[in-house]
Amino acid sequence: MTATQTRDLEAILTRLKERKMRVTKKRERVIAALLTAEKPLNAEELRERGDLDLVTVYRNIEAFEKAGVLQRIPLENGAQLFELTAPDEHYHHLVCRECHQAERLDVCVGEEMRKVAEANGYSHIAHVLEVYGLCSECLEDEA
Ligand SMILES: [Zn+2]
Ligand SMILES: [Zn+2]
Repeated sequence: MTATQTRDLEAILTRLKERKMRVTKKRERVIAALLTAEKPLNAEELRERGDLDLVTVYRNIEAFEKAGVLQRIPLENGAQLFELTAPDEHYHHLVCRECHQAERLDVCVGEEMRKVAEANGYSHIAHVLEVYGLCSECLEDEA
């Protein structure tokens, strides 16, 4: 288990260039906001930290996700967090529902799930699994 998210700016920029994506000033600000954050951010936090408008934030989230350098972390309430990821890495998270601190989990049940899905006649399988709880700091705050 590791709490660190991807900080490899070079790998991310290289991937964007491979995808023929221009690295604009706004894109740089989105990446910088995610790189310097100590935990995954929601769209509103990204907007604030990057000094961007929400339309720009969402547009870039989509572009980065397609390029494989950004992972979406869905929350229980339907909101989403975002973090940078090295191209084609795949992670599940342990997420604090109060403060949004997130740890990457070193487990994946994907292989088993894929077999079940294929046995049901499905192809192009993907899966999402996130685990939610209250981190020790937030638990202390509640006490
Ligand atoms: Zn917490
Ligand atoms: Zn998985």
